[in-house]
Amino acid sequence: MQGSRTGETTKITGPEGEASRSSTPMNVHGEKRLASEARRLHVHLAPAQPSPSGRDAGRPRRLRLVLGDQLSRGLSALADMDPARDLIWMCEAAEEATHVPSHKARTVLFLSAMRHFRDELAAEGLPVHYRALEREADTRLADALAVDLRALSPNAVVMTEAGDHRVETGLRSACVGAGVPVEVRADDRFLCPTPAFERWAMGRGSLRLEHFYRHMRRKTGVLMADGEPRGGRWNFDQDNRKGFGRQGPGLVPPPLAFAPDALTREVMALVERRFPQAPGGLARFDWPVTRAQALAALDDFIRHRLPAFGPWQDAMWTGEPYLWHARLSAAMNLGLLLPQEVNDAALTALEDGSAPIASVEGFVRQILGWRELVRGLYRREMPGYLDRNALEAHQPLPRFYWTGESGCTCLRAVIGQILDYGYAHHIQRLMVTGLFALLLGVEPREVHHWYLAMFVDAVEWVEAPNTLGMSQFADGGLLASKPYVASGRYIERMSDYCRHCRFDPARSEGPEACPFTTLFWDFLDRHRERFANHPRTALMWRNLGRLDPERLVAIRDRAAALRADPP
Ligand code: FAD
Ligand code: SF4
Repeated sequence: MQGSRTGETTKITGPEGEASRSSTPMNVHGEKRLASEARRLHVHLAPAQPSPSGRDAGRPRRLRLVLGDQLSRGLSALADMDPARDLIWMCEAAEEATHVPSHKARTVLFLSAMRHFRDELAAEGLPVHYRALEREADTRLADALAVDLRALSPNAVVMTEAGDHRVETGLRSACVGAGVPVEVRADDRFLCPTPAFERWAMGRGSLRLEHFYRHMRRKTGVLMADGEPRGGRWNFDQDNRKGFGRQGPGLVPPPLAFAPDALTREVMALVERRFPQAPGGLARFDWPVTRAQALAALDDFIRHRLPAFGPWQDAMWTGEPYLWHARLSAAMNLGLLLPQEVNDAALTALEDGSAPIASVEGFVRQILGWRELVRGLYRREMPGYLDRNALEAHQPLPRFYWTGESGCTCLRAVIGQILDYGYAHHIQRLMVTGLFALLLGVEPREVHHWYLAMFVDAVEWVEAPNTLGMSQFADGGLLASKPYVASGRYIERMSDYCRHCRFDPARSEGPEACPFTTLFWDFLDRHRERFANHPRTALMWRNLGRLDPERLVAIRDRAAALRADPP
């Protein structure tokens, strides 16, 4: 079987060629209907496969859905695929780039990776029905499926759990509406299956990383020796969390870059044409878009950056977006890399002595711990999770989040970097952009939309708990034991941003006061009742009690001014 690319669509021909189609009158009618539907929708239909005769002639037995973040050859929806009778269904839906705005690099990454995956499936001889994003194509994924269910009339639909509740609900109801049975299979690419997570979470009032992570370590035996944690500790954070000091990070090995190939460039042109108003730029686009590239990126990280990942994972520096971070989240979230193989690669580096335990444990904790925890939480808490607003925050998101035009050097640097790369590392997300929104009191749903829009790795199952739970405390402490709040002093310690800023991180009042510092005290003041007696936060609030009343009034006034006119 060959796949030949024609513009933005792929035509795939089956091993038997067109001649193998049955030509009963009913089938001829069906084919005509299908062909005209395909022309209208700019879809190239996959292949003439050997057809059964009789009532089912010309119909695929099962339509196998592969969504944009399911680009894994071992996907459960593709297991037991019968290429002679089943048909893979993939669709580029404009809605996925517009239901919230989507950074141009994010849209390009998804579409390019999908098209490369489609071509790989085709090269393997698998039939793919691929809807490319054309001017008149349906805007909603679910609508596109509904049309194809009518046109193709499969006996059944097989899909893997979607990473977005909205998408899964829409696809399921399209099947119900068309009267086609749908089988939703577990996504076994994750390390903690949904039922196992449910068992762990049952009866818990909070879902804490530390408990879940230890449970996963014990269950998998990862970094364990004779039932005890390797190195005598569950986590090595006290060796990590270093800043760079005045001298900065020194020479950082740049991550492997993947220059856009012809197919990616085609998608870039399409995205510029279709979504000219979308945020972000494409000039720096160099993300891995195939499994082979993703494996090369993994190897590059393990060799060159993992050894120093631990100590500096919280540090930030102007002009250094990646430092020693993996830059693998996008490839993992697309399905080009599996968490198991990523963890295994890090563990191998520990065994062969090329990376120290503090770095390997710190990295494994992100994958085996955080990534699995937020995924379990998302599936458990949706759909209501997106409405949570425990701190009753109602400020609008400042406009500068979309432009980077802020008077705060840290916000300008991080948002500018996000616009350029579609990437910021964890502490930039949590302790700069997230922290400012939390301190200002921004409506959590607006913050959620922004994070979903602006990052190449944004998929709702991972983005929403990180934003609403970890960063904004909107779930009231289901995920985080206390709000991640700090003054400008934290940013000063962990970065060089404050050195180039007109504000002073040590000051909370007056025109030079750092907005983070003012808003930090104001946050403590506004939420005194909720947190003052909480065992994890009492100390912070005791410090508030030491402020003299006049200073507190000045802080409140300045905080109100910042809210009215964010810096
Ligand atoms: P590294 O720092 O090198 O970490 C290695 C890997 O660990 C990552 O690739 C990722 O797969 C995993 N990981 C690390 N931290 C987390 C975490 N908190 N939750 C889940 N997995 C984690 N991550 C996303 O993948 N998509 C998102 O949309 C996303 N939104 C976020 C929003 C906010 C407000 C915050 C605070 C964090 C968010 N994260 C998100 C988590 C984390 O910031 C990114 O996974 C990480 O920065 C990706 O860069 P990296 O691959 O260089 O990761
Ligand atoms: Fe950011 Fe405040 Fe530092 Fe300026 S002084 S860079 S606003 S933390």
